[in-house]
Amino acid sequence: MDVRCTDCNQNVEGRAIYAGSKVYHRGHFRCSTCQLAIRNFYYTCSEDGKPICYACKSVQHPVCKKCEKFVGETFIRAEGDPYHLDCFVCHGCAKPFPGGEYYRHNGAVFDIDCYWAQVAVEHCK
Ligand SMILES: [Zn+2]
Ligand SMILES: [Zn+2]
Ligand SMILES: [Zn+2]
Ligand SMILES: [Zn+2]
Repeated sequence: MDVRCTDCNQNVEGRAIYAGSKVYHRGHFRCSTCQLAIRNFYYTCSEDGKPICYACKSVQHPVCKKCEKFVGETFIRAEGDPYHLDCFVCHGCAKPFPGGEYYRHNGAVFDIDCYWAQVAVEHCK
């Protein structure tokens, strides 16, 4: 059986990496963006089918801080952290923020109504 590495076009013996219909030497399976060998996770770019490593993928499509899944084309960035639109919601009432305005309290985010409700509760202890 003559199996050739997609990268260097040499015969692959022993352990190879199979990615879709392509075969690579271990170490020749490289990220199409940073050119580093991909060891654990990889993803395929939908456009050209080239492999991309986890690190590069998460730069292009950041991981939601809340649910830890990749965010799509539209996402919210709050204080540097990306969130799905549905994941960045008020800690009190679980609704999205009107106009993107939110208040931070004890590490959680609240809309204005819930924020004041929260603060009032704590002040009345
Ligand atoms: Zn190779
Ligand atoms: Zn990469
Ligand atoms: Zn999310
Ligand atoms: Zn709320």
